[in-house]
Amino acid sequence: MSNLSNLYREIIMDHYKNPRNKGLINDKSYITCHIKNPSCGDEINIESKVENGIITDIRQDGVGCSICCANASILSQVVKGMKVSDAEYFLDNYLKMVSNQEYDESIDFDELQVFDGIKDFPARVRCASISSQALLNTLKKEKS
Ligand code: ZN
Repeated sequence: MSNLSNLYREIIMDHYKNPRNKGLINDKSYITCHIKNPSCGDEINIESKVENGIITDIRQDGVGCSICCANASILSQVVKGMKVSDAEYFLDNYLKMVSNQEYDESIDFDELQVFDGIKDFPARVRCASISSQALLNTLKKEKS
């Protein structure tokens, strides 16, 4: 990832080595989504817990490359505590950012900003996307 700054690389390696919110709770109050990325061998599980329209917990577990695992860890930290409606808008725009589409640049992506450079590496875009897609799926299931 020669295009990513050293700081970004450090943040990714920190989360890869010390993943946050890792391990599933397997409780009825959580909704889980599993997504695979065959091109890279990444497999990720995302669990979310919603109470009164707020995401009160996100858990993540899986195996994969450093980008994918770091992304799940950072995502769980940044989105925890958001209102569901805000999180859906946030994730939708994050996915646009990493896939090089127009997005709302006024959003503060916090540490997820490190994945901005991934659009220069099209083969890795899915690595930085599947956790957000899985989380969007669990939020959708919460509502149904
Ligand atoms: Zn990957």
